[in-house]
Amino acid sequence: MIHLLTTLPFTLSIVKMNAPALEKVDCPLLLARIGNTPLVPITSPNARVQILGKAEWFNPGGSVKDRAGRAIFETAIADGRMTRAKILLDATSGNTGIAYAMVGAALGYRVALVMPENVSDERKKIVRAYGAELIVSDPLEGSDGAIRVARELAQDATKFFYADQYNNDANWRAHYETTAPEIWEQTRGRVTHFVAGVGTSGTLMGTGRRLKELNRAIQLIEVQPADELQVIEGLKYMASSIVPGIYDAQIADRHIAIDTDAAYRETHRAARAEGLFVGLSAGAAIAAARQIAAEIETGIVVVVLPDGGDRYLSTALWQ
Ligand code: PMP
Repeated sequence: MIHLLTTLPFTLSIVKMNAPALEKVDCPLLLARIGNTPLVPITSPNARVQILGKAEWFNPGGSVKDRAGRAIFETAIADGRMTRAKILLDATSGNTGIAYAMVGAALGYRVALVMPENVSDERKKIVRAYGAELIVSDPLEGSDGAIRVARELAQDATKFFYADQYNNDANWRAHYETTAPEIWEQTRGRVTHFVAGVGTSGTLMGTGRRLKELNRAIQLIEVQPADELQVIEGLKYMASSIVPGIYDAQIADRHIAIDTDAAYRETHRAARAEGLFVGLSAGAAIAAARQIAAEIETGIVVVVLPDGGDRYLSTALWQ
């Protein structure tokens, strides 16, 4: 049996005694290391406001999506939708795919991913390294094109379990169960603002819901690209996208639009001035967090930094 979201330090990864070599056992130690990421200080433009970044590249698969990837996988195995006879299939712009590929390899399940052809080379190579099958979709159609291809393939329900992260409640629940309680504990309940970019929106929906239950006064800030031409990998401009079923525009108290130039500037500044080598969506989220910090009197602003910069070395971000 798979234990959901187990965090025990010694849940077994070891090959069972008296069992055939390489038999997989419950929740490998590797997966137990998902979550409990550190909060790192970020320079604030306001001395009375602290900004703390949730450093999600500390997850074993290197991004925030390890949380959702693991929860989606484990929920589907537990309720029987995913079996060893099936292949887990989903559309992803990269990080969720890497998370599925890692979890699949660790648990011994097959994974197939649809990604737009123009996602960074690193992402494609990493999922292949984990042994997942990669199907590329039209780069001009972006993540929505990948969703359409995945939906088409998913018609074959005997072959595939369609994980559908955009409509799967296990996605936001992962953050409700892990990201939010971690932030609450790490700030000893003193967090006043929570800032996150939205792709599937799982991070903001799950963390936001739980934080509001813990303290209704916590302000939730949603970050999106400023328009459909501002491409920030991992984030969606909802007005012109297939809107995720799990997304609720009413959850955030405030929406901040960030253009690509501001995200680039903040990503470069974070590396050089803070020692934080992060991805472009983290740069966008930091830009929004610093904007909030400059506007408010006092508080603790927690911002999600979804992944690290090394995943973007081949992109224009570091040319
Ligand atoms: N940033 C990056 C780099 C991502 O890969 C994602 C996931 N699409 C996000 C932000 C947004 O996370 P979520 O899907 O939970 O909204």
